[in-house]
Amino acid sequence: MTTAEEVSIFDQLSPSNTAVVIGGGVAGMQASLDLANQGMKVVLVERTPSIGGVMAMLDKTFPTLDCSACILTPRLSEVARHPNIELLTYSEVTGLTGEAGNFTVKILRKARKVSEEKCSGCDDCVPSCPIEVPNEFDQGLGFRKAIYIAFPQNTPLIYTIDEENCIKCEMCVKSCEREAIDLSAESEEIEVPAGAIVVATGYQLFDVSKYPRLGYTQYKNVINGLEYERLINASGPTGGKLMRLSDGRIPKSIAFVQCIGARDVSKDVPNCSRICCMYGIKNAVMAKELLPDYVERSTVYYADIRAFGKGFEEFYSMAKTRFRIEFIRGRVGEVVENPDNGNIVVRVENTETGKFLEEEQEMLVLCPGVLPPECFASIAANLGLETDTDGYVSVKDATTNPVDTTVPGVYVCGCAESPKDIPDSVAAGSAAAMRASICIARGGVIDE
Ligand SMILES: Cc1cc2nc3c(=O)[nH]c(=O)nc-3n(C[C@H](O)[C@H](O)[C@H](O)COP(=O)(O)OP(=O)(O)OC[C@H]3O[C@@H](n4cnc5c(N)ncnc54)[C@H](O)[C@@H]3O)c2cc1C
Repeated sequence: MTTAEEVSIFDQLSPSNTAVVIGGGVAGMQASLDLANQGMKVVLVERTPSIGGVMAMLDKTFPTLDCSACILTPRLSEVARHPNIELLTYSEVTGLTGEAGNFTVKILRKARKVSEEKCSGCDDCVPSCPIEVPNEFDQGLGFRKAIYIAFPQNTPLIYTIDEENCIKCEMCVKSCEREAIDLSAESEEIEVPAGAIVVATGYQLFDVSKYPRLGYTQYKNVINGLEYERLINASGPTGGKLMRLSDGRIPKSIAFVQCIGARDVSKDVPNCSRICCMYGIKNAVMAKELLPDYVERSTVYYADIRAFGKGFEEFYSMAKTRFRIEFIRGRVGEVVENPDNGNIVVRVENTETGKFLEEEQEMLVLCPGVLPPECFASIAANLGLETDTDGYVSVKDATTNPVDTTVPGVYVCGCAESPKDIPDSVAAGSAAAMRASICIARGGVIDE
């Protein structure tokens, strides 16, 4: 973000010094910082009002149980304050012309109706807004106003008006002393030059309601993994209090179901999502860690445990030994609600013992796999990208060129290429930045 006093870096952009990074999750942030720290100019384009991606929604991170916000927040500020990064949030890439070393990128800057130069993020506008809608950042478990920031560390700290829900009562306009709000502001399209592009558009969760037998949306005490992350997060909708949605009670038993929308050809997702085993185990541990005196039983129903990363197997062992997490091998067949108490009855065959089990749990968390984001098709078309059978960006050669797309000068990182955990997304962000900077430095001539 540039302030009124600072000179915009827009005037300094040229194909010989500029990269456009699309997607401001942890992978795109890393790529931007690495490029900017080499002296390149970076235009970072993020679709939502804030950078941070899914990592900003997480509570702790496996396998160290570090606080996600504590790691991410300094990075958010670093990106926002970097003199070589122009941060365009609430924006989307709508077209690309030219070739490696000499692209022109069309970017739609959606009207947030709040001036980025004048808004100080003071919050004075919020109490006056009469409209409340479910907060996407809290997975719809909490509420926000029609003028809002997504979360306290929203970067940049600038409010956005959600046009779909705003009733144009102008109460916010009257309450803003800095006169930052303009309800008549329109979206604008701009063009920037770039020598290379980095795609870091991430992922979305598989929609677990596609398995009606698992009771999501039917039973209040069946939630998904990201909803659980928001429930246990101190800045989440319950202030970090793990509670059942049916009655607000702390669950004494809680279970996690793995591989929902992963490794299932019947749902068109044959691939493994790579992250769900570990985040399921992490969250089973977190239930006991947060509420050792309340949560008596924490169970994981799994098909296979894939603890392949550094420190992952040790974390899995610790979950079994120190935290006494119960692991039951078997795909859950069906769940029903006990109407007397809202508990969830899980029917599953333990494939290790061959026994059919019917277990009552006070809360059930479905751990979905991931998919390319819905909006990805249009960005792929705009950039001319090819996609693989799972819908992720195809790379030139998965063994020797894992971040080069089939379009010269366009690179990919993070979950836009395939499901990845945070460390792998960050490593891919650095790799894509390196490839992009070589492309820019050599005027688009690469691999010669
Ligand atoms: C429940 C859950 C728990 C997890 N826990 C852990 C954990 O403990 N440890 C760990 O290592 N990993 C964990 N993960 C995985 C982690 O979320 C990912 O590794 C990480 O978010 C990947 O970062 P990314 O930048 O590739 O994608 P994302 O975080 O998805 O970021 C992509 C960004 O691109 C933006 N974008 C999308 N499309 C466009 C577009 N067209 N134009 C502009 N911007 C766009 C998005 O708005 C978003 O900001 C967890 C995942 C889940 C679901």
